[in-house]
Formats: sequence, structure tokens, C-alpha cells
Amino acid sequence: MNVNDSEVVVSILTREGYVHTERIAEADVILVNTCAIRDGAEQRIRGRLNEFKPYKKKKPSLLVGILGCMAERLKERLLEEERTVDLVAGPDAYRDLPKLIRTASEGQKAVNVQLSREETYAEIAPVRLDKNGVTAFVSIMRGCNNMCSYCVVPYTRGAERSRNPETILREIRGLFANGYREVTLLGQNVNSYRWEAEGTALDFPGLLEQVARFDPALRVRFSTSHPKDLSDEVLRVMAAHPNLCRAIHLPAQSGSTRMLELMNRKYSREWYLDRIAAIRRILPDCAVSTDLIAGFCTETEDDHRQTLSLMEEVEYDSAFMFKYSERPGTKAARHFADDVPDDVKTRRLSEIIALQNVLSLRNNEKTVGKTVEVLIEGVSKKSEAELFGRTSQNKVVVFPRQDFKIGEYAEVTVTGCSAATLLGADPKRIVKG
Ligand code: SAH
Ligand code: SF4
Repeated sequence: MNVNDSEVVVSILTREGYVHTERIAEADVILVNTCAIRDGAEQRIRGRLNEFKPYKKKKPSLLVGILGCMAERLKERLLEEERTVDLVAGPDAYRDLPKLIRTASEGQKAVNVQLSREETYAEIAPVRLDKNGVTAFVSIMRGCNNMCSYCVVPYTRGAERSRNPETILREIRGLFANGYREVTLLGQNVNSYRWEAEGTALDFPGLLEQVARFDPALRVRFSTSHPKDLSDEVLRVMAAHPNLCRAIHLPAQSGSTRMLELMNRKYSREWYLDRIAAIRRILPDCAVSTDLIAGFCTETEDDHRQTLSLMEEVEYDSAFMFKYSERPGTKAARHFADDVPDDVKTRRLSEIIALQNVLSLRNNEKTVGKTVEVLIEGVSKKSEAELFGRTSQNKVVVFPRQDFKIGEYAEVTVTGCSAATLLGADPKRIVKG
């Protein structure tokens, strides 16, 4: 999401005549897009700011701006706490950046952390920074209305709002015309996408259907689905369109219903497992990934074991796994004690990671001997003689380069694997559409 926001920022500034550079020494303005989801993310950003100091010494007119969720959370305090910072802009203030940069360059306080109920940057075509030229992120909504008790996002990104579908489809058309073959529709809770205009309404299954119909050669992914809102209808739309990728990211956070209640996730372990059963029933070849938090307030060994058993039961293909980090201002910070000792959190997290490695390997081993369809994304980091791409299930496959090109589809036979990667051989070209 932040990558995509940075692309919007570059687009806004390019219109004003700015030129994007990745060489810090060359820059007149450095903008750092930030995350506030865990304390560790913010500490990394503070460390990064120190790296800019020598550049400011060399070029006193150099401006440093903090964008995004950390800017929103700390507001003008950032100017006081971090002497390197000249400018602070929250996630809904990017259209104001040209003005903020002018204000800061005049030596004045430049802060805009106003949140909006409408801003979706709908008509702004992001300038793609990812550079593989094949896969792109497309934001379909911003903000979040779910008040998970541990989470800072509703405070830093504001209320949920959906983007005009015409602008979404226009952006996708442009991407496809420029050679892109995969889009990931982004939102904190994509299943609650809803656009209403002139008496008609479009919900997420409806949008997904329209994007799927765009071209059979365009793959579509989406993230994130909140388990409470993942409907059978979405799964049925996926089943009807092979270009809707067989991978669902369904963050569980915990396997314990008691924890889920404290987290205000609005579902139980049983509800979550029912959604998994629906996925297995309607999309038997679908990969499932998740997010898990270790050591949330009052978590006992029994709660933790329920997370491990949920993982076993679902057999996740992959997971993002975190230690609970208290965020100021959230319901958990205000009402619950962060009472799981850090060494216990660390141990539980490492048990979760170890189990996930076993599950990832087990899942990957199941594909050995099969043929998979791969969208080629680039040259392997390890060898110029190999390419890599992803399967519909979002698994990375490395295979011989031969005369294949980035952006093409290939059918590859899986000959081996690790927990992270599939090894492929005997690629055959697939032409779509
Ligand atoms: N909207 C998405 C996730 C956004 S944040 C969703 O609800 O699924 C990405 C992940 O960060 C969350 O799923 C959660 O696992 C993790 N996370 C959020 N707040 C956290 C906190 N305070 N400490 C540790 N992990 C957290
Ligand atoms: Fe945070 Fe919950 Fe919203 Fe996800 S759904 S962004 S975890 S509040």
C-alpha cells in the first residue's frame, strides 16, 4: 500500500515539474513514506533519518519530508523530535505536497495531517516505481472502519472510502496497454468495497467480475480480505474466472476465540474455519496465507497453542508473523495491559515461524511433479541463466531462461522446492487471449 502511495506522490509531483531520482546525493527533496503499524517500523524510520544528515550538511537547502502513517500519528511533534525533518504530510494530504515543499523551502513549518472522508486519489495515475513492468498495485479503497483493538490504521488512515470504479478500470486499461499482466487490488478490507452513484451500487464481487472480464491475459489478485466479510459470492466469482488468482490472504491474527474477542475481530475460530472450508469447497486449488500476532494482551500458553493448532488445521501456504507491539491511542493501549513478557512473545513467535516453515515446505512439496502456470516477472537473483515468476497460488518458481521473456506466461514442471521457492524445468510458452 505504501509503495502504491509513493507512486501517487511521484505522479502528483511530476505534474508540478519535479523529477524522480533514486540517488539521494542528487535530490533536492527527500520524501520518506512511513509505516506506524509496529514500533519497530517507526524505529527503523528514525534510524533512516540519521542517514540523511550528512547530505543536509553538504546541501543546506535539501528538504526532508515524512509522509504516511507515522506522519499522521506524530504530526508536528515530528518536527520537534527529529531535527532533520522539514515537512510532515499525512496519507490524505499528498495533493498539498507542492505547497508544503514551497512552505518548507521558505523555512516555515510545513505540516498537513488532515484526514479526509473522500480522498481516494481516484484520477491520479501512479508513476510505477516497481520497474518489473509486469505486476502493479491498484488501490481500490482507503482507510479502515474496523476497530481492531491493537491496530493504529483507523487512526492514521482515517475512515473507509471506496474509489470510483471507472477510474480503477481506466488505470488497469492503461497498465495492460503498457505490458502489465497482473494487478493486485488493494485495500485494508477489500470485501467491504462499495461504490454508489445515481441509484446503482457496485460491491466487491461486482468490481472483481468487471476486472476479471477485462482480459484473460490479465491476472488479478486482491488484498486484504477480512474474514468476517469474505463471502461465498466472492469465492464463486473467483471460481468462474481462471485469471482471478488462486490465492487468498485471510489474516487470522489468532486461533483463540477469546483472543479474537479481545482483538475485536468480530469472528470466532469456528467462523474463520468455516470460511476456510468455503474456500476449500469452492476453490479447491486455492492457496491461503495469513497474518498472525504473537503475545497479544493476556495471551496464555493455551491461547498460543490454539494459534498453532489453527495453523496446522488450515495448513497455510505462507504467513506474515508478528510480535504484538502496543500502539499509543489504540483501544488495547488504553484498556489492556501489554502483559506478555517480551521473551515469551519472542519464544511464541519463533514457534509460530518454525511451524510455518514446516507447513510452507509441506505445501510446496505437494506441487513437485506437477505442471504450473507461471507469469514471468524477472531474471533470477542467483543466476542470469534463470528466470522467476509466480504461480496463480502466488508461489515463486525459478526455471531455465531459454528464450522466454519477462511478461510472458509459461507452463513449467516443478522438479523440486524449498519452503520459499519452487524449482521448475521444461518451460513451454502459453499464449492467452
Ligand atoms: N487490514 C489488514 C491488515 C493491516 S495491518 C487486515 O486487517 O487484515 C497488517 C498486519 O499487521 C495485521 O494483519 C496484523 O497482523 C499486524 N498488526 C497490526 N497491528 C499490529 C500491532 N499493534 N502489533 C503487531 N502486529 C500488528
Ligand atoms: Fe487494522 Fe483491523 Fe483495519 Fe486491518 S481491519 S487495518 S487490522 S483495524
